[in-house]
Amino acid sequence: MSAQGKAEQDFQQEYQKAIERIRSMPDGAVGWVLKFLQMELEALTPTEWTLVAFEVAAFVDETGDRYGGMVAPESGWSVEGVPNAKNYQTIQLELYWHEGYTAFTFPQMTLVVVSPGEGSDEAGTIFVSAKRKAKEFEYRFVHLLAQSGDYIRRCPECAKIYLAIRRDQLYCQPRCQNRVAARKWREAQKTGERKESHRGTKRRKG
Ligand SMILES: [Zn+2]
Repeated sequence: MSAQGKAEQDFQQEYQKAIERIRSMPDGAVGWVLKFLQMELEALTPTEWTLVAFEVAAFVDETGDRYGGMVAPESGWSVEGVPNAKNYQTIQLELYWHEGYTAFTFPQMTLVVVSPGEGSDEAGTIFVSAKRKAKEFEYRFVHLLAQSGDYIRRCPECAKIYLAIRRDQLYCQPRCQNRVAARKWREAQKTGERKESHRGTKRRKG
């Protein structure tokens, strides 16, 4: 295998692993975004940095899977890493146009809108294609946040930003909720103890 072939293969492998890491997160791509936003990038080791970079690249395709969308590859993170890049551009996008879908073209980004019933029964689907891969990332990012709506919250106990499961959920995890409950209980006990100690009871220390 040529050196370039080997490099492409390595790229693909790392890329696939990154997609898997995002997929296996409990909250999927949204969970990944929230984790990414709260990551201290400066504190990462070069190895960790590389893993994150692949995840950033893979995120575009991962959310594409879920919310509909093929990305056009003219600019990929590595064009060589995207198989048959030219096919996506010429065949797939042409197909959408010929099938009667609508494309909106902006200077650095093309959005293709597909009517409801094609990709999804209820809603239309948007495909994104950008001159720079970073633009696709930005687009996916915003789109995903819009889909998650008001389920993104900050936990009042640990300050972590998380994706709520229920609309009335306050804490990120039962652990945080339990900690608050335990603290309230201890405070109530302390108040009780003070009252008790006046009567000379010494059952508990601290
Ligand atoms: Zn929490």
